[in-house]
Amino acid sequence: MNIDSIQNGVVLDHIQAGKSMDIYKYLHLDELDCQVAIIKNARSEHMGKKDIIKIDYPLDLDLDVLGYIDSNITVNIIRDGKRVEKKHLELPHKLVNVIHCKNPRCITVSESQLDAIFLLSDPVKHTYRCAYCETAIDKKF
Ligand SMILES: [Zn+2]
Repeated sequence: MNIDSIQNGVVLDHIQAGKSMDIYKYLHLDELDCQVAIIKNARSEHMGKKDIIKIDYPLDLDLDVLGYIDSNITVNIIRDGKRVEKKHLELPHKLVNVIHCKNPRCITVSESQLDAIFLLSDPVKHTYRCAYCETAIDKKF
């Protein structure tokens, strides 16, 4: 793949250097059949170093997961070789089945069919609380 010429796909730019593998894992990019290019430690005027992920497929990404991992990432949608949309992310207010509760007595541990739901409780510290037992999870990334 010529990594500069994606025709129809998604380019995740301005990823904090070193985080691209976390994103690869949390977005389940290993399950994709298409070509995925991970560029680590690319030079950036603003960030010094950054990571970039290029996905050669018009994938519908979970922007909540991305926003949770790193809300500074920009998502570029590429169609016919041109950028048609640039999305900015926000820290999501609600996370469903992204992180799991650490409290062994939480109902989501014994009732595994329940969705793991976390709500943002402190946007500055990026703290989320379990919607069932209120156990706090600090930002992992
Ligand atoms: Zn819980």
